[in-house]
Amino acid sequence: MEGAGLGDGDGMDDRHNERSASSIFSVLIRQSGAQDGSETQDSGSGRDRQPQSAAEEAFPVGDGAAEAALMASKGAGEALPPSTPPAGAEETAGGFFGGAMRALLILPLVALLTAGLATFAISWQEHQTQQQERARPTADAQQAALMVTPRHLQRIGIVAGHRGVYDDPGAVCEDGLTEREVNEVVAEKVVLHLRGLGFHAELLDEFDSRLQNYQATALVSLHSNDCRDYGEFVSGYLIARAAARAEGGPDDLLAKCVGENYRRATGLRVRAGMTSDMSEYHSFVEIHPLTPAVILEMGFLLGDRRLLTEESDRVARGVYDGILCFLDQIGVT
Ligand SMILES: [Zn+2]
Repeated sequence: MEGAGLGDGDGMDDRHNERSASSIFSVLIRQSGAQDGSETQDSGSGRDRQPQSAAEEAFPVGDGAAEAALMASKGAGEALPPSTPPAGAEETAGGFFGGAMRALLILPLVALLTAGLATFAISWQEHQTQQQERARPTADAQQAALMVTPRHLQRIGIVAGHRGVYDDPGAVCEDGLTEREVNEVVAEKVVLHLRGLGFHAELLDEFDSRLQNYQATALVSLHSNDCRDYGEFVSGYLIARAAARAEGGPDDLLAKCVGENYRRATGLRVRAGMTSDMSEYHSFVEIHPLTPAVILEMGFLLGDRRLLTEESDRVARGVYDGILCFLDQIGVT
């Protein structure tokens, strides 16, 4: 019986534990049966032996289960009822009955134990798999945390003065040259250059709706001065930040960086004096209070016309070099 149960050679590994547990269980039952004085469990008559083989075939999962099922059937059959014990085998019947009861009691426990082991094995395997799946995203997140804020998340706004849907050319020269077209050419070049470096640069209209509560790393509004003939050579740039902003903050730093780099690139001198139109520029009020912002009057349309119209690349370089100076100063690389 034991030999047949262990060595029937079905070779299914996943049943190995269950089979081993059943075999041990079978031995225990048999030993307890022997202690009860029963020898007929294994060496009984041929009539008892025959259903055991049938039960084995009916329950191939293990000889323990088969034996338990067999014993249960015996308990229900003619072999075990206390009223009709086999002739001359009361003790043997009691042994059978005790073994069957043990089988009925222990078998669910064995099944529960086996199911528990299988569940634990599956859970552990799933746990390991989940840990492996988590490992890759975690490593990526750690690597991303070590990197600085990427440039494409650094928003930089460039306002092309007087550009937009409104009929406002800004300053106009006698031959028709407008401040708006000069501003737009330079602003587009600045935006394209910053985008080429990977920054989130935006070209904005004078009254762009995006300027409301505009949040950015920096905002620079580009204008040009008038085309009036003052009777003398009038040249130079002006730069201003919002009058309401605190001194010594990022707005001052932006103004300093843009002014110095613009002077270096264009060779223009800064004009003394500043109009309230600049320091109380409307965009300074509209944008988010923490967005550093300056307005740059790039030059006079009459006196600096050649620079502004024929050397717009140099003008644009002065602006974006100033912005890059500011970004470097605040730690954006
Ligand atoms: Zn203007």
